[in-house]
Amino acid sequence: MTLIITKYFEVDDMHRLSVAKDHGAYSSLEKLFQMSPSDVVDEVGKSKHVGRGGAGFPVWNKWNFIPPNSDKPVHLIVNADESEPGTFKDRAILERDPHLLIEGMMVAAYALGVKKIFVYFRGEYRFQWKRFIEALTQAEDEGLFSSEAFKCDVIVHRGGGAYICGEETALIRSIEGERGLPKEKPPFPVTEGLFGAHTVIHNVETLCSLPFIISNGADAFASIGTEKSKGTKLISISGHVESPGVYEVVMGTPVASVLATHAGGTLGGRRLKAVVPGGTSVPVLNSEEALGARIDFESMKEAGSLLGSGGMMVLDESACTVRFLSDVARFYANESCGQCTPCREGTGWIKKILNGIESGAGSDRDVQLLVDVAEGIKGKSICPLADSLVVSVQSFVRKFREEFKQHVKLGCCPFN
Ligand code: SF4
Repeated sequence: MTLIITKYFEVDDMHRLSVAKDHGAYSSLEKLFQMSPSDVVDEVGKSKHVGRGGAGFPVWNKWNFIPPNSDKPVHLIVNADESEPGTFKDRAILERDPHLLIEGMMVAAYALGVKKIFVYFRGEYRFQWKRFIEALTQAEDEGLFSSEAFKCDVIVHRGGGAYICGEETALIRSIEGERGLPKEKPPFPVTEGLFGAHTVIHNVETLCSLPFIISNGADAFASIGTEKSKGTKLISISGHVESPGVYEVVMGTPVASVLATHAGGTLGGRRLKAVVPGGTSVPVLNSEEALGARIDFESMKEAGSLLGSGGMMVLDESACTVRFLSDVARFYANESCGQCTPCREGTGWIKKILNGIESGAGSDRDVQLLVDVAEGIKGKSICPLADSLVVSVQSFVRKFREEFKQHVKLGCCPFN
């Protein structure tokens, strides 16, 4: 199997420039600088590379939204504020091969004529931040950001730990020195973003495929994966599996095979109950749906969920789905920035109802109330945070309603 991102994850000291160079780091640059920026944009377009942050937006489309002949500068933001529950793939890249990300940043910046790159780090990723800074300093000292072919400044910003700052507009405000509150869109950042400039924001994993596309050509990248999902995907697997961790798989790989081969099967060989395939913002799949799905955008949609961030959480038969959902609700209620009333009040209300059901103090009416409150919140807020909880609530209640009712009937959690 072709590994695009994790190829050198097991090599010691890959954050050191000399080691990284011995393993091919920055080898795409020679070819890159022989191409014109517009050729690079076209090549990435031909590769059909799609963003890996969760939304699944084609990279080329995002780049093409920048108005031609605009007087405003173009900024690139690297979103390294990885906070989606169950997702830890970018952390692995930052830790084990930060030069791959730096090379990817250079490809994007060269293609778009960017003179300032901003890297927004999750505040809690202290070790990864140190590694990245060490790698970046070595790359800068080597003159990679100040050559005749390419000149660019890199500004690294550490977040304060708010989940909502992973949302584009909140992230931009945070870099600008304001409180990280999401804003209504439009205008979209690519039109009017950081400090008013055109701003392209990419997830860490997204940028890491760009050196491969330049070195090997768009066709080589497009030949990997499925019709609509090209390349590979990093999956961070957690929960009831024998070998949790970060794995790179070719798009189109069956979930059943990922669970059996990479993750080593369910813990103790117990029966699979559910899989949340792409972070807590996507609908849960029951075992049948999950085992019939593949790791790609189209298959996940057909199965009734989304690939999202690739943060795959596995629940076996011993797991209480009400408790899981209750933890998810607590997270969203804590992380709501409070600007929109439906989100501020609704996430807290859902958390309260779920706590009641989980502790055995809920009534029959509460299960339906949960669904009704979620429906009342849906589509009524500025950013997707509230809707993410709605999606979780609706899918869990629809697929595991019996477990919710059992809690009410027994007056306690049947899994205790
Ligand atoms: Fe803030 Fe929630 Fe509104 Fe998003 S949906 S802006 S997190 S209150």
